[in-house]
Amino acid sequence: MKPLREAQSEVIAGVRRLGTESVRIEDALDRVLADSAIAAGPIPPFPNSAMDGFAVRASDIASTPVTLLVNEDVPAGTVPTMVVGPGTATRIMTGAPMPGGADTVVPVEETQPDTADSVTIVVGVPIGANVRPAGGDIVAGEVVVAAGTRLSARDLGSLASIGVAPVVSRQPVVALMSTGDEVVEYTIRDLEPGKIRDTNRAVLRGVLEDLRIPYVDMGIIGDDVEELREAYLHAADIGDAIISSGGVSMGDFDFVKQILRESGSVEFWEVAMQPGKPFAFGHVGGVPLFGLPGNPVSAFVSFEQFVRPALLAMMGATKLFRPSIQGVMGEDVSTNDEKDVFVRVMLAPDSDGSFVALKAGGQGSNVLSALANSDAFAVVPVGVGSLSAGDAVTLEMFNWNENRGLDD
Ligand code: AMP
Ligand code: MG
Repeated sequence: MKPLREAQSEVIAGVRRLGTESVRIEDALDRVLADSAIAAGPIPPFPNSAMDGFAVRASDIASTPVTLLVNEDVPAGTVPTMVVGPGTATRIMTGAPMPGGADTVVPVEETQPDTADSVTIVVGVPIGANVRPAGGDIVAGEVVVAAGTRLSARDLGSLASIGVAPVVSRQPVVALMSTGDEVVEYTIRDLEPGKIRDTNRAVLRGVLEDLRIPYVDMGIIGDDVEELREAYLHAADIGDAIISSGGVSMGDFDFVKQILRESGSVEFWEVAMQPGKPFAFGHVGGVPLFGLPGNPVSAFVSFEQFVRPALLAMMGATKLFRPSIQGVMGEDVSTNDEKDVFVRVMLAPDSDGSFVALKAGGQGSNVLSALANSDAFAVVPVGVGSLSAGDAVTLEMFNWNENRGLDD
């Protein structure tokens, strides 16, 4: 059996980064930035007020109360026309540029309006208070978002602040198929004996959509050499990557291997992981092919361990693997110590805030319901055959969704 890390390295080494394109910020969410976004000028571009109040000279308010003459009003979006001389102040709104001469803003709450033309500063503030300096957020020439970042909504804001249209890597188009004579569309209400509904494509379409990766759904391919060969060749024509599930376990082994050996190059591996031991990786017409195991849980685990990181690598991402955090096992587990075992767990926050992992249900590789209920893999590595309740455990997070209501 091939160690998991070694198999992951070979898969990542076996995919190529795609080309780049310039997109609108509106279309850039979750895309991977190809060229670092660099600020041409400082942000904010000019010193401005952080509060509604009065721009003053700090030396004028050294002792309070003090009454100053108001020279003008500067709402946000306008520019001051007057310099703040000794004994004067400018009425200023949040975000408006600081007038010349002023170095400090006194919030309106610390003042008493006199007439329209004068104000009494009741409580002083230190020099520089409530002034946002030019470049206080970003300095000119600074990398605002680094190449290789998968863009969050917050990154889109940073890009918008510097007015940059992002150059991103192209998204791979995935050709997606299920294989197996027993597999039928989920839309079939009354299953014939021996048939099962296709769940893998439902999951895989979802995870691809999560990554905003376009796909061509090629449907279900029967266990037939010619049909499968044709499907793989067509997939290589239309896709940048091929994902199929089924047909890689022992029974089908030679069959798929034979097609791929004739039409491309393929590696069949037994990876030292559970679930997901059988896995095929290779190329058809230069296009990477990921042959996932058919069992639904295995297919997801293999997708997470190999395909997701590989697709992110094709997109030029620098970070390829899900966040892993330390948690505490909430119950005993025993596993095969010759494999990295991915226990499907749900997490319950403990009273001290740590994550406690409990099995999300049956751990058979066909038990999709437990996978659906889970938040993370609790990783029991090669060489460790069991964990006891209370033991520390590494959790690979694939669900970082909301986990608290108002009362939690
Ligand atoms: P295979 O890898 O083709 O030997 O399939 C292993 C197991 O996974 C068998 O029980 C298959 O019926 C099941 N299976 C294969 N493909 C799918 C699918 N697309 N959806 C649900 N179960 C599947
Ligand atoms: Mg099959």
